[in-house]
Order: sequence, then structure tokens, then C-alpha cells
Amino acid sequence: MSLLGLGEFHAFGAAGQRFLYLVPSAAVFALDDAAAALIDALDNQRLSRDDLLAAVAPRFPDAALDETLTELEQVRAVGLVAAPPPPTPTIIPLTPFPLTTAVLNVTNQCNLSCAYCYEYSEDKIVDTTNGAQPKFMSDETARQSVDLLFRESGDNAVVHVSFFGGETLMNFPVLSRVVPYAREQAAARGKRVEFNLTTNATLLTSEMIGFLADHDIAVTVSIDGPREMQDRFRVFHDGRGSYDVLLPRVRELLRRHRSRPIGARVTLTSQVNDILGIYHHLTDEIGFQEVGFAPVTTSPGRDYALGESGFDQMVAEFKALADEFLETAVAGRHHGFSNVSETLEEIHKGVSKAYPCGAGLGLMGISTGGDVALCHRFAGSDEHKLGSVTDGIDRGAQVAFLERHHLANKTDCHTCWARPLCSGGCYHEAHTRYGTTTHPNLHYCDWIREWTDICLRIYGELAERNPAFLTQFDS
Ligand code: SF4
Ligand code: SF4
Repeated sequence: MSLLGLGEFHAFGAAGQRFLYLVPSAAVFALDDAAAALIDALDNQRLSRDDLLAAVAPRFPDAALDETLTELEQVRAVGLVAAPPPPTPTIIPLTPFPLTTAVLNVTNQCNLSCAYCYEYSEDKIVDTTNGAQPKFMSDETARQSVDLLFRESGDNAVVHVSFFGGETLMNFPVLSRVVPYAREQAAARGKRVEFNLTTNATLLTSEMIGFLADHDIAVTVSIDGPREMQDRFRVFHDGRGSYDVLLPRVRELLRRHRSRPIGARVTLTSQVNDILGIYHHLTDEIGFQEVGFAPVTTSPGRDYALGESGFDQMVAEFKALADEFLETAVAGRHHGFSNVSETLEEIHKGVSKAYPCGAGLGLMGISTGGDVALCHRFAGSDEHKLGSVTDGIDRGAQVAFLERHHLANKTDCHTCWARPLCSGGCYHEAHTRYGTTTHPNLHYCDWIREWTDICLRIYGELAERNPAFLTQFDS
């Protein structure tokens, strides 16, 4: 006899309503009472279709239970137990895959000396002091990077250039010359190019701010919060704190550059972890429109690494700030906790990833010398090289990388309900923790699942209480 059982989902409740996050389709499904009763009846047991309907029918005499059950089968919340298992994910050949974003490491030098920096700390991948890469990208390499982006962008109507470092503004002359060049190239091809830049803001001048505003360049400032937190790690080479240097510059940036939200990006460590305090300082007291947080990428054992209790505290504070986000969003107002808005957008769009991010796929990092690698964090690493601005993308190397890193090869993730959004996590984190980009980041699974659950609940609350808020994620 064919028996029905539960499919693969993560159940959660929000606003008095029950929802399923359906893993195979990455869809969110709201249960009415009859559907919830059918799901509950299958908890821990398997039933024939008739027995299942008979078990639930007395409580819902007027409900069209058969239709509801069919719908649950269609979305694979319920399915035949004896059905053949879904085929193992197939890795679709990916050549040629268009490039969407080029991250230009315009310099690998920095005027700060943050102890936890992935480029300079003990965990660094590329030797930026004595290695083969030049310290600054030349005009020629910057232009060649732009040419590569357009050449490899296929039918994409919009391409993105990200400026990264080191400290990006240490090579402002090259940056300021390549922006108009990229615009000319875009116009000649009937495309649009968008720019963003990440900086520690300590070198920002009025002239630079004018340039960024005039050229509509999105800016993210790396900053860790109020003075005592910023100055814990984000110091100059002589040990001086950077807070007092960047503050007036950031204030001027926020005052004069209004066309784009200016974001802050905070690195959380064992000693810089007061998330609510940092968020409110950066938004209410300084005026940032968006703040994103990321735990420091480091091998375990460093004194700034977030340990087990650090991760627990981080999730608790993320939750408190996410609750604030929810109440603000229910009232129809903007809240700048970008970790939530980014995850909500992915949930809304039904994102289901075979790869954790765009690195090596539609996004590539370009080193100061013109080597193309997975992303900015690997730019200049021979081991992670995928071509060069002169020779183009090595499609063979790219395909080999994508085959090795597909979710299909991360067996630890195959039974995890959070895999559509996580897909194993950042390659750089994995490289630092496990010595290889292919390893899933199993040290933070509990945290990822808890965070995903928090965001699903917020999504459900908004879907019930202010669905109009979610329409911003339609496009
Ligand atoms: S790394 Fe962990 S949380 Fe992420 S998909 Fe794999 S098992 Fe799930
Ligand atoms: S590998 Fe990590 S650092 Fe690089 S783009 Fe992906 S998530 Fe970001």
C-alpha cells in the first residue's frame, strides 16, 4: 500500500500563523488550520491517503480536505514514502557564464594595521609585503579589468565594478581615472555600469567626497562602532586609534553624498560585540543608513576569535536587533540592519543556492597585478587564480572550481534545511578554518540555522502584518 509521509521542510510560526519553509523549492508556505492538521497527523508516522483524510476529517467537516492534501503534495510538504529519492543534484555545465561584478583590488596596502585583517594577519593568503603582486594597481591594469568585465559580461545590461583594498583610497588617482573610462565603455556598448567602494574612511578628503557623490558611487565604510570599540583593533601603524580621524570625514560624506545609502560594515570579535550599542551609535549618532555585521574570519584560538559563547551572544543580540527591525518595518519605516534585509530579500525571491556566493561565478576579484581570482579576498593567490586581465578567464579552471564546490559535493549539507540560503558558507572562511575552500563551514551551522529561523519568522510576521513592506524585494 502506498503511504504518505512528511516532505523536507522547516516549520516555524509567526503572527499566530504556521508556516513551512519548503527546502526543495525554497518557498515559504502558510498553513491554514486544515493543512496544519494534515501535517500534524503525519508527524512521526506514515498513513495511507484515505487513513490520513479520515483521521483529520472529523475536526474539519466542511473543509475541502482532499484539495488541501493535494496542494500539500504539489508543494512537496507531503509525499509518497515509497517514491524514488530525488535524483542527486546535477552539476550543469556552466560555460560561458557571464561576469556581473569585477572587484578591483586597487591596492593591497593599508594605512591602518587592524590586528584581525585577513590581508595582513597571521591568516593571510597572499604575501602583500614581499610577494609578486605590485602594491598598487596601475591605470593600465584597471582599464584592462574593466575591458575584461565588459568582454565577459555576455548579455548582462548592467555590470558592477567594486573597488577594494587594502585601503582603496590609497590609490584614488587610478580609481578616479578608471570610473569615467568604465562609463565611456558602458555607453559604447549600450550597457550601464554601477560602482561601489569599501574604505576605512581615514583618508577621505573633500575632493574625494565630491567625486564619489558626483559619480554616484555607493560607499561602505569599515568601522567597528564607538571610539572605544573602533580603536580596539582599527589602529594606525603607530598604534593610534582611527575613530577621531574618520569621524569628521564620515560626517561630511554622509552630508554631501545623498544619492546612495552609505553603509557601515562592522567586524565582530571577542572584544567588539555590543551589537545593539554599535548599531545605534552608527545610525542614530553618526547617520549611517545601513549597518551590516560579520564575525571576524580567523582560525580558532586567536584571542579576537568569537568562541562558542561569543557566537551565542551574537545570535541573541542579532535577534534583539532583528525584533527592532520587525517593529520598524511593520510601521512601514526603514531600518538599517542590513543582515536582515539581505536575508529577507533572498527568502522573498526563493533563492536556492548551489554555491554560497557569486565568487568564481558571476563575481571575480582582480589583484593589483591583474590576476583574476575567486573574489577580492583571494585576489593575488596563485592557488585560487582563474585567469588574468590580459589572458581572460580560464574557463577550464572555472568549471573545475565550480564542479568541486557545488553543493552536490558537500554531503554534510545534504540533510540541512538551511542549505538553500547557506550552501556551505564563505570559501574564505572555510579556507581559513579548514585549509580548503571546498569544506562546508560546519563550525557555524547552529548559528546559521538559528539566524535563518529568525529571518523566516520576521518574513512571516511581515507577510501577515505588513505585506506591502516585502514588495520592495520584488525586483
Ligand atoms: S554549512 Fe552547515 S548550515 Fe550551512 S548548509 Fe551546510 S550544514 Fe547547513
Ligand atoms: S568567498 Fe566569502 S568573501 Fe568571497 S565573495 Fe564569497 S562570501 Fe564574500
